Amino acid sequence: MDLKQYVTIVQDWPKPGVIFKDITTLMDNGGAYKYATDQIVEYARDKQIDLVVGPEARGFIIGCPVAYSLEVGFAPVRKEGKLPRETIKVEYGLEYGTDVLTIHKDAIKPGQRVLITDDLLATGGTIEATIKLVEELGGIVAGIAFLIELTDLDGKDKLDGYDVLTLMSF
Ligand code: 5GP
Repeated sequence: MDLKQYVTIVQDWPKPGVIFKDITTLMDNGGAYKYATDQIVEYARDKQIDLVVGPEARGFIIGCPVAYSLEVGFAPVRKEGKLPRETIKVEYGLEYGTDVLTIHKDAIKPGQRVLITDDLLATGGTIEATIKLVEELGGIVAGIAFLIELTDLDGKDKLDGYDVLTLMSF
């Protein structure tokens, strides 16, 4: 299946000059959403995954159906102040300024094999921060899966040494 036909390109959103890849049109097509999920499940199948971890909000959309299919749990990575119990946090750089991502301290047990999911790899900052959280809790990043990679931004350079799957490149 050519998944790219289900991604909608939105010019100048959320601000002028940005060409946004809208995945909601992929998600609301049952066949395309299932196909994309199945591709990631097949990739992860032989990796002995114990847990799927994804950053809010679109990392949940990809990660939860994959976790369900692999019959493992899902742990959310969220912006600061969103998780109710004790968390660890990591600060990461944005184009302008910084942001913070957090995870519950007891979400991952040391030695657990983790699959990280997100919709899109751009500069790699979000996923680099997510990796740091997983590894700080003693998790092993056994795989990282995205629907989309923006190749011009070289986000993959930040993922050297990790096992990465991307279903589409733009
Ligand atoms: P990065 O941290 O790699 O620069 O940016 C990736 C994060 O920003 C992902 O969590 C993703 O959801 C979001 N993002 C950035 N650009 C786009 C885009 O064009 N489309 C979508 N769907 N998400 C984007």
